[in-house]
Amino acid sequence: MPTIDKVTVLGTGVLGSQIAFQAAFHGFPVTAYDVSDDALAAARERFEKLASRYQADPAVAASAEQTDAAISRLRLTTDLADAASEADLVIEAVPEVLELKRDVYSRLAEVAPESTIFATNSSTLLPSDIKGFTGRPDRFLALHYANEVWRFNTAEIMGTTDTDPAAFAAVVDFAKRSGMVPIELKKEKAGYVLNSLLVPFLNAAAGLLVGGYAEPETIDATWRIATGAPSGPFQIYDVIGLTTPYNIARANPDAGSQAFADYLQHNYIDKGKLGVATGEGFYRY
Ligand code: NAD
Repeated sequence: MPTIDKVTVLGTGVLGSQIAFQAAFHGFPVTAYDVSDDALAAARERFEKLASRYQADPAVAASAEQTDAAISRLRLTTDLADAASEADLVIEAVPEVLELKRDVYSRLAEVAPESTIFATNSSTLLPSDIKGFTGRPDRFLALHYANEVWRFNTAEIMGTTDTDPAAFAAVVDFAKRSGMVPIELKKEKAGYVLNSLLVPFLNAAAGLLVGGYAEPETIDATWRIATGAPSGPFQIYDVIGLTTPYNIARANPDAGSQAFADYLQHNYIDKGKLGVATGEGFYRY
């Protein structure tokens, strides 16, 4: 099994910055790549905010020395060849646009060492959609994080039929050493494990609400009391933020989805009540 010591992250947005910081926090030298100096300036700000979150969140309770050390292990660049030149693992977290990802992999394949493993953090694309552009289908797979990686620390790992088991094992090992819980998928599945469970669950809750069967509080209480789960579906909607479920519902022509989109728009989106982040959604915070 190859050992992963040096990591490069492509894209320093919401998830890329978290992935880079998490690996650096756990002792890995990390190179973070983005397309412009402005994007790198934004990344530096994200890293400073993440340092504060790692200190404030009881799940980590990091010291200032630890977060300073993490920041010292982070190197930023806009030069792809420089970013990839020494990487054992490149984790790609660029926007969720298939053509963009394919282009990034085509360029990366030309500059990265033969041995480098590539991993995509894509939420909705399958690694099979991309593998033909990597120049190394045997060393390519998905490594999928959840937002707020330090707290919700699952790392879903999913190869294609071409992925070498040794590369898969190396990424599982990296996930463990970077503070993540590896969730190993035995074959490709849109939505991985988490969203394969969560999306139908949230849709069912929306159906109960817009069908007029029960109030959000009743639905949440049922789930909590009867299963022992800490949160019901509408509490989860608030944590996700209501904009994403709204956009997904609006994009689906199904009458139930449109009814849920209307409900969210009228009661929440138009009023700026977007969930936990704005202090109010289905609940007040
Ligand atoms: P984002 O828009 O916050 O960040 C994308 C970053 O990629 C930006 O910094 C942008 O400047 C950079 N970028 C754009 N073009 C690039 C290129 N050609 N090369 C390198 N960088 C480029 O997006 P995000 O929410 O961090 O999502 C990134 C990936 O992570 C997507 O595949 C998404 O599905 C996945 N993901 C997101 C979440 C989430 O909650 N946001 C959770 C899990 C997985």
